[in-house]
Amino acid sequence: MRTTQIRLAARPEGEPEDGCFETVQVELPDLRDGEVLLRVVYLSLDPYVRGRMSSARSYAAPMELGDVVVGGTVCQVVASRAPEVPEGAFVLSYSGWQTHAVAPARAVRRLDPAAAPVSTALGVLGMPGFTAYAGLLEIGRPQPGETVVVAAATGPVGSAVGQIARLKGARAVGIAGGPVKCRALLDEFGFDAALDHRSPRFVADLKAAVPNGIDVYFENVGGPVLSAVVPRLNTYARVPVCGLIAQYNGTAPVPTSDRLAWFLSQVLTRSLTVRGFIQDEFTRSHGRDFVRDMTGWVRDGSVRYREDVVQGLERAPEAFRGLLRGANFGKLLVQVGEDPTR
Ligand code: NAP
Repeated sequence: MRTTQIRLAARPEGEPEDGCFETVQVELPDLRDGEVLLRVVYLSLDPYVRGRMSSARSYAAPMELGDVVVGGTVCQVVASRAPEVPEGAFVLSYSGWQTHAVAPARAVRRLDPAAAPVSTALGVLGMPGFTAYAGLLEIGRPQPGETVVVAAATGPVGSAVGQIARLKGARAVGIAGGPVKCRALLDEFGFDAALDHRSPRFVADLKAAVPNGIDVYFENVGGPVLSAVVPRLNTYARVPVCGLIAQYNGTAPVPTSDRLAWFLSQVLTRSLTVRGFIQDEFTRSHGRDFVRDMTGWVRDGSVRYREDVVQGLERAPEAFRGLLRGANFGKLLVQVGEDPTR
């Protein structure tokens, strides 16, 4: 069995150009006891992959040149030497940007296609949904009547943050790029207000949309959106720092001294709680509750989700660049192979 792989060929300077990727075909090894052969159906494209392409110090080790680009996948088992994961089963794997893979059965998690569409294991019922759930409830702790603001609000993390905030009785204000996404925040995801961060009126619109200030700012983007939000934070506001996507392709060092001192003065004088997190720290404490709550909310329609599915592994680099610019509209997936459940 051969697999087509997309590997890291060069580290990006700014946007990851085509030259950062190389496509190769390799023969997979024969299956050993306890292993499964996987056919990738969906590949998840996620912003953190940009960090792994860089050699800069971070919370996880970088990819090495020549590595298959990392990514979560939903796969179908095409051959098995592990009775607990039989041929035909659907699984969640971390096989990365390739069409097929051999994996130990203990490294995959079985999915039930009758319970939810298998693709949701990479989005609302998977890592991004869990990030929203744990970060918002553990760090943000929204209370009834409070105002929660989130950017990248039509994405899998942001859309879940806003909808969970509303389920907890808070007011949800979403920030997104462009009028089409803003309309979806109101009509599709039920946010109370939607703001376009590309509008020249953005700072004034934000002020008008939060007459009682901001109690929770779920930070997904950084950059100018963060600068507009900080002056509106209330005393004792909570800021779960989840991601800074506006800065991921940056090449110049972020100017620090003045802005940092100013920001810390805001933290001090308004008793802000600013807490960064990587979702997997909450797996033990919140994993079970997430599965129970989010499965129920998706099933009864109180949490909705949107997927943006690109066809063909060869389109992954282009789609990934788009993710870092806001070209995606919903959870970005690459359909690598046929999905017989749809
Ligand atoms: P996503 O929302 O599907 O995609 C990223 C979105 O970010 C784009 O669609 C775009 O939306 C917005 N964006 C891009 N550049 C921007 C800019 N310069 N200014 C403002 N917005 C910009 O991605 P996601 O998977 O839900 O992830 C959202 C954030 O959560 C990312 O920062 C990611 O790194 C972070 N995250 C963190 C963890 C963790 O454990 N801490 C886990 C998962 C994700 P618009 O067109 O609406 O601007």
